[in-house]
Amino acid sequence: MDQLQKRPANYVPLSPVGFLPRANAVYGDRTSVIYGRVRFTWRQTHDRCRRLASSLVHTLGLHRNDVVSVLAPNVPAIYEMHFAVPMAGAVLNTVNTRLDAKAVAAILRHAEAKLFFVDYEYVRLASDALQILAGSGAPVPLVAVIDDLDRPTGVRLGELEYEALVAHGDPANVELPLLEDEWDAITLNYTSGTTSAPKGVVYSHRGAYLSTTSLIMAWEMGAEPVYLWTLPMFHCNGWTFTWGVAARGGVNVCIRENRPAEVYRAIARHGVTHMCCAPVVFNILLEGGDADARLGAPVQVLTGGAPPPAAMLERVEKIGFHVTHAYGLTEATGPALACEWRAQWDSLPLSDRARLKARQGVSVLSLSDADVVTDDDRMARVPHDGKTLGEIVLRGSSVMKGYLNNPEANQQAFRGGWFMTGDVGVVHPDGYIEIKDRSKDVIISGGENICSKEVEEVLFRHPAVADAAVVAMPHPHWGETPCAFVVARDKDARVCEDEVMAFCRKHMAHFMVPKKVVVYDALPRNALGKVEKVKLRDAARKLAPP
Ligand code: ADP
Repeated sequence: MDQLQKRPANYVPLSPVGFLPRANAVYGDRTSVIYGRVRFTWRQTHDRCRRLASSLVHTLGLHRNDVVSVLAPNVPAIYEMHFAVPMAGAVLNTVNTRLDAKAVAAILRHAEAKLFFVDYEYVRLASDALQILAGSGAPVPLVAVIDDLDRPTGVRLGELEYEALVAHGDPANVELPLLEDEWDAITLNYTSGTTSAPKGVVYSHRGAYLSTTSLIMAWEMGAEPVYLWTLPMFHCNGWTFTWGVAARGGVNVCIRENRPAEVYRAIARHGVTHMCCAPVVFNILLEGGDADARLGAPVQVLTGGAPPPAAMLERVEKIGFHVTHAYGLTEATGPALACEWRAQWDSLPLSDRARLKARQGVSVLSLSDADVVTDDDRMARVPHDGKTLGEIVLRGSSVMKGYLNNPEANQQAFRGGWFMTGDVGVVHPDGYIEIKDRSKDVIISGGENICSKEVEEVLFRHPAVADAAVVAMPHPHWGETPCAFVVARDKDARVCEDEVMAFCRKHMAHFMVPKKVVVYDALPRNALGKVEKVKLRDAARKLAPP
């Protein structure tokens, strides 16, 4: 009878943290991390992570479920934290480096961060955020600076320093596993929110494990890949490849910035086989490189976060990037659908293959289900006709545990057991899902999400603006950019577009600033008084790109 019990005596909670000791055992002598002139092996990475975890627990006194925030680009430290922080029983909160101080402060406050790691390049942003936090009376976390590992700068913030914490930790003094349950939280990723309450998406160890392994399968990533970090690790934990590269015993090639020359140099020098990126990175690579150049060897690229136009896919495939297209969102632990390639498509012309590949695809295996349902109480599955629109919904272990301390958002996010993505799509006769629109008010510029409401709230604070609405407008480089429609407070006075943009630059992160401001006499509104954003999107589409 015992065997029929729910949980056997040999139950071990699923956790991607276990990929690290395995990499140490199997790939110990192989390179784990390359950063500038720095090289580590998996044995060293394993040792460094254990040391850091031991310092977090025994020197800094962190407890289970304490939140550790980090503001850093793709450097080895943020990679190591993906193992060391959960090893210490704590929860890792990676913060987007493109946010402004107010948004960073809002995240630290909401997450109740106990420790804040800051890369030396972001010390100014972090100290501004900490000042805002202290000014609001909220508890201020301990701060530790991450100096450059290749070329130390001596920049400091607070008393603590990352390498010192690694050096002074005792690798023998970490008890693994600290997990009680595979549903324990592993990371916390914020979607947006400077003015509104930020939404903190909580992932479980189980969800992260299943998402990691299923993405490795969806992408057919073999053993010992050489993985280039072009996707920020702060985006859904690098779509789980922080853990995935360890699972495959690969090499993590870390670069601070995605400059085309550096990306191409890293690909050639280290024999890169895999990378993930938002479609905007392809623009950067296409614009910065020789258009007829070809890569020495093919590079597998997983792209998503925004729709990649078929024409772009065609161009990058010609250079030698083999693209797998995925669709996902923070709430789904990264990619939730992948456009799995079918052998029968191999013989099609390149343009047809690109068109098929531009579709978002089928559910990854960590989900139990993904579908498109009607936007009514029935939530009926739409016919597979490639035409009937509905909302894309997801369910399964890799969907987030929920939003941290935000019951209202949690209630809105789930319906009948489904996670509602807010994306509008169709299902084709072959079962592949394609996105057609977004019902949520989000603008995706260069893979970064901009909540139009947040931009509108700043516009409303401008003394000459009586009414404002912000929508996405197509942009050849960024995919989309915010376009603002404003109504002047005083009908006889002129609203100066440049001045409105300058006002926005002062009050929000620069990537959120509208690239175009259009003055209207009145905004189009429906009978209920709601701004008709469909009309504004149409108008924005017809404007010349900024
Ligand atoms: P991420 O950090 O992966 O960009 P976000 O939660 O910030 O995730 O953004 C998710 C949203 O981005 C989705 O709801 C969808 O609107 C859009 N998106 C993501 N991937 C794709 C894709 N492949 N094609 C079209 N839109 C996409």
